[in-house]
Amino acid sequence: MMREDIQLAVVGAGPAGCTAALVAARELDVVLIERKSEIGSPVQCGGFLPEGGELESLLPRARLPEALKEIPKRFILHHTRLQRIYSPSGMSKEFAVAGRVLDRRAFDRHLASQAARAGARILPATRAALLEGGLELSGHYAGRLRPRMIIGADGPRSTVSRHMGNPVQEMGICLEYEMADVDIDSDAAEMFFSARYAPGGYAWIIPLGPDRANVGVGVRSSYLSGQRLPDILEGFVHDHPQAKEKLSSGEVLAVMRGLVPAGGSAGSIHKGNMILAGDAAGHVLASSGGGIPLAVVAGRIAGESAIEHLCSGKSLSEYSSRIGREFGRELERSVQIRKMVDVAMRSDRLINALFAALSPEQMKSVMRAQIPSPLSSREWSIK
Ligand SMILES: Cc1cc2nc3c(=O)[nH]c(=O)nc-3n(C[C@H](O)[C@H](O)[C@H](O)COP(=O)(O)OP(=O)(O)OC[C@H]3O[C@@H](n4cnc5c(N)ncnc54)[C@H](O)[C@@H]3O)c2cc1C
Repeated sequence: MMREDIQLAVVGAGPAGCTAALVAARELDVVLIERKSEIGSPVQCGGFLPEGGELESLLPRARLPEALKEIPKRFILHHTRLQRIYSPSGMSKEFAVAGRVLDRRAFDRHLASQAARAGARILPATRAALLEGGLELSGHYAGRLRPRMIIGADGPRSTVSRHMGNPVQEMGICLEYEMADVDIDSDAAEMFFSARYAPGGYAWIIPLGPDRANVGVGVRSSYLSGQRLPDILEGFVHDHPQAKEKLSSGEVLAVMRGLVPAGGSAGSIHKGNMILAGDAAGHVLASSGGGIPLAVVAGRIAGESAIEHLCSGKSLSEYSSRIGREFGRELERSVQIRKMVDVAMRSDRLINALFAALSPEQMKSVMRAQIPSPLSSREWSIK
């Protein structure tokens, strides 16, 4: 039987929720609720995660949990050395980035197992809805919970965030293939910018091995003029002048879709007895679409804040301040960069000009949510 009056309910067992549950369960009574029948599956991710040293440069003020730095080898499918960026004209620039490609299904299950080991109760195949003063659970474990506190780690379409009164924010819409028998450079994670093949976003090839890759497009609906996302991805695989050489003879093993928040932090990430972490809070670097590192860091801070709030009465407003101190600057800058680049995204001519203006090292800075001088010039400034 489920106890109704638990201390902490965490909604969503992705990287943010699992990390929050595993940290909080060391001191608190925790229930982790996940609507998917199997934690981590289906995967909705490219799995790309920079190595620990790269993450320290990316998020210099954040305390990175071990879960990000020391990932057991069995959850890493592949390592990359480079990031290569293609302009619409077919030029490419590359820079060194040591990267890992995670088996996201196994990674999420590993984090959930650690939460279980720390004492969290896990409820898969169970959807949480908010009621005044609690949660209504439906699915495999049905019933009501009256937690003293709720962490909303329920992803980009967060129910908890909506309940807190946050508006739905701007999203990247993504479609991704896992492909086999492709002819790729397995050392490089590649990004392709093009108004035609990835309107308002970019397309990617993330190697999973010598001849396997996650291949996807992320676009924004305001940039689509009636095109369908499946047609855009098919066009990238079969018609893009550089990508088709690598992909068009491959086979699709899986099709994945999902959303990526593109607007930075949600209006409010704490309200009453609720806080938000990860995609639910808009914790995604809008310049790259990378959300795994911020989700794990935010999950850690959320778990610690829950302990301090419930055991020592510390205000939950301290949670927002800590998020701001650890990665607020990078999150904000990534949105600024996205807004600057939005100006160029409307035309290949402008994307080519921006591409020509940036050196490979400056591109690396952009990926790290730093603003290099060519980007801060008036031409690209936010209108
Ligand atoms: C196609 C695609 C590719 C991506 N590639 C990368 C990449 O290569 N690298 C990177 O860093 N990031 C990538 N991202 C982003 C990354 O996947 C997310 O930022 C990350 O998963 C966020 O973790 P999270 O725990 O906040 O949310 P999620 O991983 O979305 O987990 C939220 C969980 O909450 C559950 N849930 C939702 N509502 C409820 C409810 N009412 N009740 C119970 N459970 C609920 C969901 O089922 C889900 O399991 C990608 C995203 C997409 C869509």
